[in-house]
Amino acid sequence: MANTAKNINRNFEDSLLNSLSKNKYFSYSDEGEMHCEGVNISSIAEKTGTPFFVYSKKYFTDRFNLLSNALHGTNFKIFYAVKSNYNLSIIRHLSSLGAGADVNSAGELYRAVRAGVSPASILLGGVGKSAEEITFALEQGILLFKVESYGELIQIDRIAGTLNKTARVALRVNPNVNAKTHPYISTGLAENKFGIPLEEAEIIYQDKSLPNIKFAGVDMHLGSQIATTEPYAEAIEKTLAMCARLREKGITLHHFDIGGGFGVQYDNESDFPFEEFTKTVIAPLKASGMTIFLEPGRFLSANSSALISKVMYLKKNGNKNFIVTDAGMSELIRPSLYDAYHQIVTVNTKNREKKIYDVVGPLCESGDFIGKELEIEAPEQDELIAVLSAGAYGMAMASNYNARLRPAEVFVDGSDWKIIRKRETLEQLVQNEEDCL
Ligand SMILES: *Cc1c(COP(=O)(O)O)cnc(C)c1O
Repeated sequence: MANTAKNINRNFEDSLLNSLSKNKYFSYSDEGEMHCEGVNISSIAEKTGTPFFVYSKKYFTDRFNLLSNALHGTNFKIFYAVKSNYNLSIIRHLSSLGAGADVNSAGELYRAVRAGVSPASILLGGVGKSAEEITFALEQGILLFKVESYGELIQIDRIAGTLNKTARVALRVNPNVNAKTHPYISTGLAENKFGIPLEEAEIIYQDKSLPNIKFAGVDMHLGSQIATTEPYAEAIEKTLAMCARLREKGITLHHFDIGGGFGVQYDNESDFPFEEFTKTVIAPLKASGMTIFLEPGRFLSANSSALISKVMYLKKNGNKNFIVTDAGMSELIRPSLYDAYHQIVTVNTKNREKKIYDVVGPLCESGDFIGKELEIEAPEQDELIAVLSAGAYGMAMASNYNARLRPAEVFVDGSDWKIIRKRETLEQLVQNEEDCL
């Protein structure tokens, strides 16, 4: 996965950077100043300081509509995977467009409800739901649990019984297909911890010994940043065959949840092929008569945002040029964690000479970098840079490592902007501690 050679020989023709000029969400003005929608990014930085994430509201709207249009004419519901970005304003905006929420913990469930999502539009997943989380979700009245093991099913049945409730359940099957993505974000192979093997799920669906469980549907999620439709088509074919066998035995599952994972453009990848998706994935599902559920995260959020950071220092060690920025792995851990690539550009472009840089943060870790061997227009000290495609698994994975203050988040709507999350304060860093020794 080393990016080195690729980055130097990068094909700028198709890259995200090149498409910036045509991008409605992030673009340069004639004066070479980067804007998010109608707002000059430097003007935000003057008021908020750096680093901060800036989001385009229109991006979320357009992506949600793009996905909805691909499903036009079918019975479907989109559940936003809150884990990709759980800011309340972002959840609220997607909810106002008609999205439900896919959550993975009591915390995400709490956030979704706080953001105005009806519990009747919330799915709770996760391989290790605690008794407290199950109780909380039943009390809230969520739409359904996605169950990942027989042990968990028994636990949910027991807790639902004590609360006098019925738990709606979809088994998350593991169809054992290769999503051909990074091993850390691949989830649909037999060797992964996720899901229940199809053969076992088929047996569990026939279990009549769980009085407080109602089987409502079937669920899968193959991984993330999946570029092609084949893994979906293959997994759906296998799983629909199981559903048909169950139907013959009188067990009808009403919805088929295909999960999320639709790939996006970070560099010169193409966007997820929706035309083909409609033909090879949606058509067979539609023919089955089941309602289609989807759980997109990254697809809705990744390119909504840029992480804006300041060049603090420029340095050279041997032959290597470094840009030391005020954002690092505490703001955006994807490069360190997954060797992920993010395009980095200067916020003001002045047709300067380009050089090859490593862009590194201020944390005390050699693994603290945002980009390696990237070709960037040579910036000056104190200048702003933008790390593109930072909307998914950016702020959601931000940490306080090195006792860093988590950054601000800014939402742009046309020519207006507002802070949707303030920068953390030093006082907040210690608020839960008792300094009593
Ligand atoms: C992470 C996750 C998603 C969202 O994945 P994306 O790649 O962001 O679309 C959806 N469903 C489940 C179960 C997940 O774990």
